[in-house]
Amino acid sequence: MPLAREAVELLVQAARAWYFEGNRHGLRDREWMALRFLGRANRFSRTPSALAGFIGSTRATASQIVKTLESKSYLVRKPSQEDKRSVVLHVTAQGEKCLSQHDPINHVVNAVAALGNDGCVGLRDSLRDVLNHLDAAHQRLDASICRDCMFLAERGPATPKGRAGAEFMCRLYRAPISLEETELLCTSFERTRDRPKIEEHLDRARIASQG
Ligand code: SF4
Repeated sequence: MPLAREAVELLVQAARAWYFEGNRHGLRDREWMALRFLGRANRFSRTPSALAGFIGSTRATASQIVKTLESKSYLVRKPSQEDKRSVVLHVTAQGEKCLSQHDPINHVVNAVAALGNDGCVGLRDSLRDVLNHLDAAHQRLDASICRDCMFLAERGPATPKGRAGAEFMCRLYRAPISLEETELLCTSFERTRDRPKIEEHLDRARIASQG
């Protein structure tokens, strides 16, 4: 147990990078959290209500954060292609630049990257196991990626009429999902514990796309 406590205390120290008083580069920690989430969220989750769920705030607070990010030209609203009555939030090029240059978690990302590939995989898998335990205990998880989600299904080769590059289907939204989209965050995510086939397929496809 002392070892487990020591590990958690180190995790808490690392978390100080993203929880802070005041602001950094003009944004408070929750505004950074929102911009970071919207920069990595898929098309179903870039909505004001999904944002509110992710940052654990009311809709009114999330709307205020969206307005702040819009006023700094980091965010724009566009009508949803799936439902014209809804809006989808898009991080602008300026917002992406701000994230890549000034996001307070960049130091932590660089430190983790310095562990090397095996170290990163080990840390990711350990944290995933910890989240699995917490998920089982609390029956909730804010967001994660398609590749770990029970709604992801293989679709087969994309047709000329299909969405370009679509290789998977989301059975919840009944929508095609491209390989790139499987790496984006989704607030409708439901964890699955046993999908070795798709996991291997995604790893193969990802290595092929990088090579
Ligand atoms: S497969 Fe899961 S994570 Fe991916 S879009 Fe569908 S619900 Fe979201």
